[in-house]
Amino acid sequence: MTHLADFKIEKQYQATVKKTKRLTPENTEEIREILLEVKQPDFECQPDQSFGVLVKVTSEFGNTFHHRLYSVADLPGKENGKTLITLLVKRCSYVDDFSGELYQGVGSNYLCDRKAGDPVTITGPFDLPFTVPEDKSSNLILIGMGTGIAPFRAFVKNIYNNVKDWKGQIRLFYGARSGLELLYMNDKDGDLTNYYDEATFEAFHALSPRPHWADPIALDEAIEGRAKEIIKMLSQANTYIYVAGYGKIKDMLDKAFSGILGSREKWETRKAELIAGKKWAEIIY
Ligand SMILES: Cc1cc2nc3c(=O)[nH]c(=O)nc-3n(C[C@H](O)[C@H](O)[C@H](O)COP(=O)(O)OP(=O)(O)OC[C@H]3O[C@@H](n4cnc5c(N)ncnc54)[C@H](O)[C@@H]3O)c2cc1C
Repeated sequence: MTHLADFKIEKQYQATVKKTKRLTPENTEEIREILLEVKQPDFECQPDQSFGVLVKVTSEFGNTFHHRLYSVADLPGKENGKTLITLLVKRCSYVDDFSGELYQGVGSNYLCDRKAGDPVTITGPFDLPFTVPEDKSSNLILIGMGTGIAPFRAFVKNIYNNVKDWKGQIRLFYGARSGLELLYMNDKDGDLTNYYDEATFEAFHALSPRPHWADPIALDEAIEGRAKEIIKMLSQANTYIYVAGYGKIKDMLDKAFSGILGSREKWETRKAELIAGKKWAEIIY
């Protein structure tokens, strides 16, 4: 397992916020799309990568760097020789179990507070485990929760815009508590809708029935609703499952896949095969 401390921060790049836009409605959890322009022309990154954001933290012990990773959320662009990268960030806060106090996540709040023109120090890029299989007839089940849509948005665009001629089936399951899906899946310029015409692509989203409550997102129901197709895909050796999002997603998926395959044992055996064949990849945070 990779730890954050394994990601090197010595090589740093200076970026500027070109755009920052709140995607979710006020009074729901805040998720922003931020476009960064990297000053140094030698910074190159790919759609299947992440990069780090460094925040200088000053405490009584001196200055330290807070380092957090963010997935590349769109195809990286170039403007005047400089790389443009998009990230999707959720403003995080946590209740301290011990004191009961609300603690604001350092990196995410820093990013959400940045305005256009502000500098941001970044690191990387770092590879994500979501590689495009060499065999274009491979099936891909992509499951993202919350900002877990970020790597898959870049992934799907990369497949249809750059890799091209994909023959396998791609199914994107996406769970959100709020109106994020409106941007990428329903808007007239929502870019994932561009692929709805592709014979191999279908996307499904699951929303919390009560967006302001901490209800679990019904991703499991969305998956169960496609049981027949998923069972067929899972019976084929060239099927990959990629998962991204918050910790909760793992239990939810184990339950859903156990349900559609008939038992926990059957799912555990199939999942072990996927892992052994490098056909299962996840980023959980
Ligand atoms: C490969 C990868 C890709 C990622 N991609 C994205 C992405 O695309 N978008 C995105 O939004 N996020 C992404 N993340 C998550 C992101 O890196 C950060 O973890 C997230 O933004 C929270 O960081 P933070 O600095 O705001 O919170 P932090 O300040 O790090 O706080 C969060 C953690 O600290 C704990 N904590 C520390 N002190 C306290 C305290 N006093 N009380 C309570 N809890 C405390 C919390 O429990 C929690 O685990 C990704 C993570 C990985 C590993």
